[in-house]
Amino acid sequence: MNSRMNTLEQIAKMGAPEAAKAEPFELDFYGEDVFTTQVMKKYLPKAVAEKLLSTLNDGLPLDPAIAGDIAHAMKTWAMERGATHFTHWFQPLTGGTAEKHDAFLEPTGMGEAIMIFSGKNLIVGEPDASSFPSGGLRSTFEARGYTAWDPTSPAFIKRHPKGATLCIPTAFCSYTGEALDKKTPLLRSIQALKTSVNRLMKCFGVPQARVMVTLGPEQEYFLIDKGFYLQRPDLLQTGRTLFGAPPPKHQQMEDHYFGSIKPRILAFMHEVEKELWTLGIPAKTRHNEVAPAQFEIAPMFEELNLAVDHNMIVMEVLRQTAERHGLVCLLHEKPFAGVNGSGKHNNWSVAFGKQNLLEPGADPHQNAIFLTVLSSIIRGVHLHSDVLRVTTSFAGNDHRLGANEAPPAIVSIFLGDQLADVIAQIEKGGATSSKQAGTMRIGVDTLPTLPRDATDRNRTSPFAFTGNKFEFRAPGSSQSCAGVNVVLNTIVAESMDYLAEKIEKFDKNDFNGQLQKLLKKVISDHKAIIFNGDNYSAEWAAEAKRRGLPNFRTTLEGIKPLTKKENIALFEKYGVLSKVELDSRYEIYLEEYHRRVRIEGLLALEMAKNIILPVVISSFDKAANALNQAKSAKVKMGITALSSYTEKLGALLDALIGGANVLEKALAAEHGEILEAMTELRQTVDKLEGIIDDAVWPLPKYREMLFVY
Ligand code: ADP
Ligand code: MG
Repeated sequence: MNSRMNTLEQIAKMGAPEAAKAEPFELDFYGEDVFTTQVMKKYLPKAVAEKLLSTLNDGLPLDPAIAGDIAHAMKTWAMERGATHFTHWFQPLTGGTAEKHDAFLEPTGMGEAIMIFSGKNLIVGEPDASSFPSGGLRSTFEARGYTAWDPTSPAFIKRHPKGATLCIPTAFCSYTGEALDKKTPLLRSIQALKTSVNRLMKCFGVPQARVMVTLGPEQEYFLIDKGFYLQRPDLLQTGRTLFGAPPPKHQQMEDHYFGSIKPRILAFMHEVEKELWTLGIPAKTRHNEVAPAQFEIAPMFEELNLAVDHNMIVMEVLRQTAERHGLVCLLHEKPFAGVNGSGKHNNWSVAFGKQNLLEPGADPHQNAIFLTVLSSIIRGVHLHSDVLRVTTSFAGNDHRLGANEAPPAIVSIFLGDQLADVIAQIEKGGATSSKQAGTMRIGVDTLPTLPRDATDRNRTSPFAFTGNKFEFRAPGSSQSCAGVNVVLNTIVAESMDYLAEKIEKFDKNDFNGQLQKLLKKVISDHKAIIFNGDNYSAEWAAEAKRRGLPNFRTTLEGIKPLTKKENIALFEKYGVLSKVELDSRYEIYLEEYHRRVRIEGLLALEMAKNIILPVVISSFDKAANALNQAKSAKVKMGITALSSYTEKLGALLDALIGGANVLEKALAAEHGEILEAMTELRQTVDKLEGIIDDAVWPLPKYREMLFVY
């Protein structure tokens, strides 16, 4: 039996899991595997706990004198949870996470040992991490990277079948202090934005408060049966299908989105959530997505740095839990052609004390602040949409952005009708707006109430105001959220400083009048970035061009802005990334792109030659024989059909060999058009899938992978 059929039979036999008996649910395990504030208080001497907590709350540097106590407490707590090892958990520029485990074990001689974890071990690590990409930042004689404890993201326990590991979130730098990871610039950018927010709020005479940048990343993913996955070398090696004809029914009935979730999937989701809750990750929403076999998980928003770490853990837990359920979680941006890909909606906002700065307030003063913050963001995104685009430039995302399911590669802002009207009124200044009587006067009028659902209708927009936050929808599902937010924080900080500098010079007697003028100017200078229409339409691409908005279609164009002088100056000014760090990132992204495309090309070629070709040849042989036999038996009917089928197969056989040769040449050339050759080859293979006997087709089909689970 064909192994595809085997998998089908096994899934059929499996049946759906039974519903659990209703048992009362208790949340006592929430955050159990996290070194939380409560745990600190319990395991640390009172004075040390207080010192550590004030470090965390006020963002002060850590007193090295207390590191030893903290390390000891962490070890005691972790060992009680079965941990034997610790690791400095970091996020190198591969886009994933990295860990190297060390046992707490310390021999004391004569076959004896103790378990120990020192302050030094907690604070710095020296993994021999010379194989991580550094983009030329480290020469091989100083290849070492250093990991440094990030006390603002709590340590946690990772469990495995036989034990557990204490994970300490860390930043990863070179010997000379250059960032080699995603966390370092993120922390720097959060700091920069905090400073700028404080400065801006001071302009409004608001008493100092704690600034918190917030993120709620919605994560999309696919699940397929592992039996199919193992028969698809393309999924296994590249994360996406390089071949596969679209099935008659895919997503056109729109019956999967928000549909009732199958028991097998719910069992999986339940376990994922339980594990996430144990890790203090507030997974909140789960649902079926638009494409068949596509799902989403969304947490409650948290402090940005923590939310980014948590999203990395979410992706890992999704993958690992799937394995335990005989499923595979695909996080690639476009695992299946012809159906929706997966993204990661980056919901971002800034809170000042208890006030969400993107929440339109109830009084004129709060509204003045809201509109100033909003104008800063509009300005920042308009001036730097090219850098925002850099962070979504990724080989996997190239198949998704602009594909009429995800936002286009052109960055624009959606404000919704009402807010757009308010902005238009401000811009008109004294004039009367057409939509509503009167004009909005900053600091005097209150905003009209903005119903939240009215702001969330335009799903085609890449950067949408959704009532109390901005939602950037372009990032790919497999990407780290760090990059996007590094850029968002930095460009908004720069814009806030620009406005603050002007506001600081205002005549206090006419604050509102001058603010009105300033916002009017900012809005009229930068309104080109605002677009409330259909981002999928061809007219928008033309209109955006007229407005001078960049439209980088692929990664190769998309990452170029990293090398632009003005952008380097911006990141240097805010101490977020230096020129050498940016150069190294550009190198790494470029190389990673080429490597990925190459791997896909090599694999497509291999599959065409070793998996598809033999089946085509034997099918051709069978058809030709049947034709011959029919002819010699002098049958009257069917000869024409057999002959035309054989011809068709023969033509596709020629095309297959021809396409493989073109791809082989592209792979051998220095700047070969690998993706183009792969597309050609795919068309041939997908046509073959349509005419070859289903019983011998060697690759699981779309209708199986996407519908049978
Ligand atoms: P949807 O976008 O599907 O309508 P929601 O508006 O409920 O869903 O929220 C989507 C995500 O945005 C969630 O992760 C949520 O926690 C997050 N979110 C809500 N408020 C904020 C905020 N102030 N800052 C950052 N993220 C937020
Ligand atoms: Mg959303």
